[in-house]
Amino acid sequence: MSIMHYEYIVCRYGELSTKGKNRRNFTAQLIRNIKEQLKPYPELTYQATYDRLYITLNGEDPEAISDKLKNVFGLSSFSLAVKVERDLDVIANTVYELIQDEEGETFKVLARRHDKTFEHISDVINRHVATKILQETDWKVNVKQPDLGIIVEIRSDAAYIMMKKIPGAGGYPVGIQGRVMLMLSGGIDSPVAGYLMMKRGVTLEAIHFASPPYTSDQAQKKVMDLARKLTPFQATIRVHVVPFTDIQLEIYKKASESYAITLMRRFMLRIGQEFAEQRHCLAIANGESLGQVASQTLHSMKEITTISTMPILRPLLTYDKIEIIDLARKIDTYDISILPFEDCCTIFTPTKPTTKPNPKKIAFYEDKLDIDDLVAKAIENIETFEIRAEEVKEDLSFL
Ligand code: ATP
Ligand code: MG
Repeated sequence: MSIMHYEYIVCRYGELSTKGKNRRNFTAQLIRNIKEQLKPYPELTYQATYDRLYITLNGEDPEAISDKLKNVFGLSSFSLAVKVERDLDVIANTVYELIQDEEGETFKVLARRHDKTFEHISDVINRHVATKILQETDWKVNVKQPDLGIIVEIRSDAAYIMMKKIPGAGGYPVGIQGRVMLMLSGGIDSPVAGYLMMKRGVTLEAIHFASPPYTSDQAQKKVMDLARKLTPFQATIRVHVVPFTDIQLEIYKKASESYAITLMRRFMLRIGQEFAEQRHCLAIANGESLGQVASQTLHSMKEITTISTMPILRPLLTYDKIEIIDLARKIDTYDISILPFEDCCTIFTPTKPTTKPNPKKIAFYEDKLDIDDLVAKAIENIETFEIRAEEVKEDLSFL
């Protein structure tokens, strides 16, 4: 075991093609998001440069912090680092110490002078370090495909040594694209849709339609648990719960069963977009996937979407169920999604929903419903919850 301990984390910003003001916004938002996610670690201190964020650990656990950073969108990669004086022997000795804890057979040294006034060019640094490792260990050099890429960064204040790059989550920092209202059910698809939207940099709010007493408290808790699984990507998520029972009962009283789903979806959209407008959202997102069920044929989507007043984003439109499930497993929502508690749609599902709704029939049924009143009442009675990651409990035992 090496006696060295990592004291820093060097974060590299993503999407380097962004320039100028955009880049400044991008970077500022990214840093805010990183700090927000790392709030449970109060000892950390931060120093930002044009292309890097240096986090000083001050004794906090590098592994736990790495786990958090892996989920921050917009971060292209990061590395645990040791900071040493800008001296070739000191650098080589430090690499020698650190390599004791690494596994593999081959390495490559990648030195970079961010400060060009440093007296040795990168090639000299590379050779100096490699020579020491080759002389004193069994590691071999492989420049094409090394097991270990050792990074030496020469900055004006010091040399930073990193044993590998940990890939970040990619995408754009949450918050740079404006706000989107996600239609969040208890199913598999919609939490995955939310995750993909956040990856593109939108701030998410969620709206959920519940039909008590036909849907249980457990069903609602399930939705909150799903939202909580999205908090590694966005620290706080608002979930708005719409009472939907009256509307569903009214539809069943006045319309043919085969049109219930179409009519219900149109209501969800009307309520969703009106409320989204109130919440200053720019679009609605949902978990629809083309052809997956009767309400998601292109014919159905068209007849449901004719009432839309804002963009409807469907990040899963072309995904197979298997692909969606893979993502649900990756973000750890799958096990919650498959819990059996019914949500509003599963209870009211008719035996033969139409896959090709006729607009004239839709109009005929909707004429019998007091749409404005039903929508207004539903919106009036929305209940909002603020979902955060489980607070990390402070250890107060020393008091
Ligand atoms: P599943 O994984 O079972 O397909 P789902 O959530 O995708 O679950 P669908 O019936 O396919 O269920 O619904 C399509 C989309 O409509 C959902 O992805 C979601 O965005 C939205 N939706 C459905 N039911 C609700 C609900 N009760 N509240 C909010 N949005 C809903
Ligand atoms: Mg679905």
